[in-house]
Formats: sequence, structure tokens, C-alpha cells
Amino acid sequence: MKLRPRPQWGTIPSEPDTYGRSFLGLPLHVWRPRETCRLLIFAGIHGEEPETTYALSRALRQLPGPAEHCAVVLAANPDGIIHGTRGNARGVDLNRNFPSRDWQPRPVTHRSTIEDPSDVLLSPGEQAGSEPETQALLSLIGELRPEAVIALHAPLACIDDANESELGKRLAYRTGMPLVRDVGYPTPGSFGSWGSDHGVPVVTYEFPLAATEVLMREHVPILVELLTEQAL
Ligand SMILES: [Zn+2]
Repeated sequence: MKLRPRPQWGTIPSEPDTYGRSFLGLPLHVWRPRETCRLLIFAGIHGEEPETTYALSRALRQLPGPAEHCAVVLAANPDGIIHGTRGNARGVDLNRNFPSRDWQPRPVTHRSTIEDPSDVLLSPGEQAGSEPETQALLSLIGELRPEAVIALHAPLACIDDANESELGKRLAYRTGMPLVRDVGYPTPGSFGSWGSDHGVPVVTYEFPLAATEVLMREHVPILVELLTEQAL
């Protein structure tokens, strides 16, 4: 696939569909592939990780049109993105709200910065899968039936793949980041846990802690390879 020349990188070359609404009523957008969906890549499920949205958007903007076999969600948590919060507008950490076997109702914690203890509280939701953003993403996956899903996060600098799949191995090799089977602490109700329970291969691509321009230079080309299936 021939990529667009840089003067055209300012706009996304195709129109999204709306696959649901956030709690605040913002559209949940998906850029569908031209053909059958082999891969779904989503970013921005944690609103404090907007670099994932930015990088995936930059990659999408280099394509001349819709990806052949890859669906793209730039902001799985648009309320969190506009509020700059990890959780959605109800204070729910969406990546602890998925209806996995290990979902639990107690408040969940995260680190304010990577050096801090994990002591900032959020809700995992009133029940598993309680949030509209969670429900919409699961419906979308049920409809698209991708062979694999890549979830973009930051800033743990690893490829987290419980299955150690070929895709995970290739991404680890390509990014130079370690392939791990978990991030080293429990993540009940995470999207990855849900995927493990339901046989949906999930690779969590954790950007490193780096300035935005550094991330763009190093990771946008890899995302372009994913969108154009050079990395599949
Ligand atoms: Zn995250």
C-alpha cells in the first residue's frame, strides 16, 4: 500500500462509524477496514494516556484510505480523554470493568506517576461490564470478530501477551521492548483478562515513558506496519 505524502497527513482519509456513545454522550468512533477484519487496534481507554490516541491517529493519517483488514478505535474512552482522567466520566477505570472471571467490586488503584505507589482510587464499575464504553467495545468485537486485538497503553514499555503469540513476539522484536505474560501486578476486569477468558487473542502494547515527539518517531512507523499488515 502506497502511503500518503506528508503534506496530506493532517486529516484522516476516511469516515468513521459510531459504534456507541460514552456516558457523556460522545460518539465512540471506529474506522472500519475495507475488507474483513483481521485486527482491531484501540487506543485511549485510559484518558491519561492520550499519546496512544495521538500516535494511532498519526499512523491512520498516513494511509490513503481505510485499512484493508484492520479496524481502528482512536479513543475508547472519549470522556476520559476530554477530562484528562484515567477513568470515564463516572470515575470508572474501564480497563477494570470488563466482564472477566476475575472482575471484582472493590475500588481499584493506579499509580499517579510511575515512581509513586499504586494508591489513587477508581471504581471498577457497579458491576462487571456496567459502563457504556465497555459494552460498546464488546459489541463491536462481537460484530467484527477480529483474529486479534491490540490495546495501546502507556508507559510500561513492554508487550504484554498472555499467549506469547506470534504477533506479540513480532511486536516485541520490532519495538525492542520485552515480551511479558503479565504486567507484574493483578489487573482484574482488564480487557486482557476478558480476552483470555473468551479466547480472543489480546496483545497489550505499552508505550515507553518518553516525550511525545520521541514516541511519534519510534512508534508511529510500527503502527503503520500493523495497519498495513507488514507486521502481521
Ligand atoms: Zn493504560
